[in-house]
Amino acid sequence: MSSRNNLQSLFSSEEIETAVKRLAAEITKDYQDKNPLVIGILKGSFIFLADLVRLLDFPLEIEFVRLSSYGRGRTTAGKLNVVQGLHSDIRGRDVLVIEDIVDTGQSVSFLMDYLLKKKPASLRLCVLTDKPSRRQVEVSVDYLGFTVPDRFLVGYGLDFDEKYRNLPDICALREE
Ligand code: 5GP
Ligand code: MG
Repeated sequence: MSSRNNLQSLFSSEEIETAVKRLAAEITKDYQDKNPLVIGILKGSFIFLADLVRLLDFPLEIEFVRLSSYGRGRTTAGKLNVVQGLHSDIRGRDVLVIEDIVDTGQSVSFLMDYLLKKKPASLRLCVLTDKPSRRQVEVSVDYLGFTVPDRFLVGYGLDFDEKYRNLPDICALREE
């Protein structure tokens, strides 16, 4: 049984490959001699990061972090996240964060603030998809794959209820 009936493909695997190649070329120009620390945000970025770093033919190191949310209501500031899994000392390093999607901007801006406090030499953000229409917090995206409409996306690492991460393309869930 196909599980795709409720999906509308927005970006094919070929289109994604083209975008990832373009991003890799931009990143190569900027990080060639910098031995950057590439930090993927779990889980959504795992496929994007895996494809991207295989096109980066220079020394780099990879870490993954996970943001956990205590949910709304614990503080008046809204969602509170903690960062798990950062094992490297990033002080003085050139750090490149890899994220699957920027929606309201809360998650990634929380992480960027957290990392900035650790005094990296530089800190940039590479994002596969950006939904600017939903932004609540200003986020500066340095390398962007696709600008996307305000739909719920799955595939290529993105999930709905932990499903669909393995789809090779990026799809929107159909609103029933
Ligand atoms: P933000 O903090 O920017 O609102 O949300 C970022 C996180 O929300 C993403 O890392 C992702 O986990 C989730 N998210 C936001 N929009 C989507 C979407 O369209 N599809 C999926 N699968 N996750 C999303
Ligand atoms: Mg995410």
